[in-house]
Amino acid sequence: MFLWNTFLSAQIGIKPLSASRQALFSSLAGQKLDALCALLDRLAVHPPQVLLFDGGCEAERTDIARYWACCALCERGSGEGPCLLCPTCQRVAHDEHFDVMAYDGRVGQKEDEDSPGFFRAFTAENARGVRARLLDSPKGRYRIVFFTGIAEARPEAPNALLKLLEEPSQTALFVLLVPQREQILPTLVSRSLCLTLPWPDPFDYEEGEISDLTERLASFMSNEGNFLATIAAKGFVNQPKARDFFVACRKSLLRVLAGRPQTRLDAILSRLEPRGLDIVGQWIGEADSMVQSARSPVSPVRVMSAFAMNLYGLFAGWVWPK
Ligand SMILES: [Zn+2]
Repeated sequence: MFLWNTFLSAQIGIKPLSASRQALFSSLAGQKLDALCALLDRLAVHPPQVLLFDGGCEAERTDIARYWACCALCERGSGEGPCLLCPTCQRVAHDEHFDVMAYDGRVGQKEDEDSPGFFRAFTAENARGVRARLLDSPKGRYRIVFFTGIAEARPEAPNALLKLLEEPSQTALFVLLVPQREQILPTLVSRSLCLTLPWPDPFDYEEGEISDLTERLASFMSNEGNFLATIAAKGFVNQPKARDFFVACRKSLLRVLAGRPQTRLDAILSRLEPRGLDIVGQWIGEADSMVQSARSPVSPVRVMSAFAMNLYGLFAGWVWPK
């Protein structure tokens, strides 16, 4: 089978993709996203004007957006998937391509003006700026614009984005990245082709520190131990640990939804009604998004504390958001 694949690849000029994909996009490693990438390869022949990616984690969503931009812009042409080797693919992967722009509702205006990064502030004014820029022809086939942190932006920004999406263009492609599509205006979702990244396997259990952390959260929910003091200890939580913690919480929720609670945290969450589980799912998505944004103004410890307190309040009946 392997030999046959290699033979086929050689015949049609496609190198085994997963290795070069893994080199450029570390979060798209492995076979988990192969089917989605293959779908994008084909979609690039007639790209939809607006693609929305939800699910997965923030790093996966950002990398799949870059991969999609490679599909649309690769010098090899479309249909076979991007080569990931040409100067265009390389520039896209390193956030250096002239025709790719990105906006994040979590980037503050002042921070954006002082030290502009690849992800600029997602404000109504900047969205109008994009409109003006899209009037110029792109250097390549398309101009591609990513939007993330949409739920965290000021309310006028998503409305300006909607106006932008309503204007037909032959050369503009938009990509919306959200933890869950329910978090943004339904009118934005209805304009998009929506693709969901695979969720983590809920029965692939964490070990060591992360399992210990979710156990401590379960204790905190039962008025034992002090989760908040533990995570507040200097140097105890960093961004990767916080990210793994929220992945573990999401898996816990998925096990509950699958009717197969296993851990102590699962047992606690399984006491919630469906609406409560839905709220917890939204909180996990928002927390994940805050923790993974490179320029989030809130520290991972504060995001974890707020999540634990909200969860505690939900069970105590203090917190019942709309
Ligand atoms: Zn290429």
